[in-house]
Amino acid sequence: MWSDGGPIDPSPTIDQAINGGYPWLEVRCSRCKTARDVDLAALRRPPTTCVHDLAGRLVCQKCKGAGKRLAATLLQLAPRKRHDT
Ligand SMILES: [Zn+2]
Repeated sequence: MWSDGGPIDPSPTIDQAINGGYPWLEVRCSRCKTARDVDLAALRRPPTTCVHDLAGRLVCQKCKGAGKRLAATLLQLAPRKRHDT
């Protein structure tokens, strides 16, 4: 899962991921399967938030209004952006 990503066991915090050189989190929407990159530095979350705790907050814009409680699938931490969104 975290093939070329940073250490994920134990789950790093946002701060640790960024400082470790992996400021991008690749996620996939569990509903429409769209993959995208999340800039951890741009998230309005405390830097001590665990990366895994973000899953429920990263559903894509398109599915946000779908009415269900969705959680994004976390793919990996990445040193650079992979998808253009
Ligand atoms: Zn979606």
